[in-house]
Amino acid sequence: MSAVVGRFAPSPSGYLHLGNLLALLLAWLDGRALGGKMILRMEDLDPVRTSPAYAAAIAEDLRWLGLDWDEGYPDPAFSQSTRTALYAAAFAELEKRGLVYPCWCSRAQRLAAASAPHPGEAVHDPRCPCARLSRKERLAREASGRAPAWKLRVPDLEVSVEDVHYGTYTQDLAREGGDFIIRRADGVYAYQLAVSVDDMLMGVTRVVRGRDLLSSAPRQRWLIETLGGTAPVYAHLPLLISDSGKLSKRLGSLSTQALRQELSPQALTGRLAKLCGLTETEEPLSPKELLPLFGWSRVRLEDIPMDKDMEI
Ligand code: GLU
Repeated sequence: MSAVVGRFAPSPSGYLHLGNLLALLLAWLDGRALGGKMILRMEDLDPVRTSPAYAAAIAEDLRWLGLDWDEGYPDPAFSQSTRTALYAAAFAELEKRGLVYPCWCSRAQRLAAASAPHPGEAVHDPRCPCARLSRKERLAREASGRAPAWKLRVPDLEVSVEDVHYGTYTQDLAREGGDFIIRRADGVYAYQLAVSVDDMLMGVTRVVRGRDLLSSAPRQRWLIETLGGTAPVYAHLPLLISDSGKLSKRLGSLSTQALRQELSPQALTGRLAKLCGLTETEEPLSPKELLPLFGWSRVRLEDIPMDKDMEI
């Protein structure tokens, strides 16, 4: 049996909020319950949206809560911004196999592609017109001088993942997922490529994250296998939702910075455990004390509404 490797993969684009913390807590519980090691990888691909200050704050929040890791941050080798050569090598390999094509679609679509897709955000065009340009049309676009983004041509193939929590999830890559951007027009490698390459090269065997990324799992599995790797096991978790939808890093009142003013790490862990269904009460306890109570069968499947009195 190969060793279990879990990962924390936050994007340092803001302070963590309660929903991020729940995902990180469950990733830690999942990895540690299996006796695995944990990696902290900073997903700071986008130089405009992320900052080293947020990366430091996130690492500090994890430590404060009692979630430890064995490898990764602050080792720069585990920050995506230093790993461009690895993404370039994977890109070249895919290009060599004729799976990559330039795309001159709108800027809004390109910007969305470098970040993880969240519900309601259009991140791909299932039938990208750029995939079918004639030689003449392509030459004309190239002559325009406008830099293209680069898309991966996915096959007409059904790919399934056995999600630990939500069961079998199947997607027709071409029809439901569609070709997707792997490098933006500004040269930044996109989330889907970077996360797949990193999970593969870091030997990650368990991916635990919010269920808004479940629909990305089949294409990540396919991409990893296409590059010759073994896909991890995926376990997605329900989202914390407020009246305006999924919590975001912009939601100040539930940011860790605000929560830490009011709660001890044990009180916050107790609250998270109750919210996701692991415990019946909000009894304060540390992540280590929660470990024996952890099991995916106890984690709720439905999203978790945040009512007003849960806000601090
Ligand atoms: N960095 C992504 C985020 O913070 C998570 C990526 C993943 O877990 O695959 O939304």
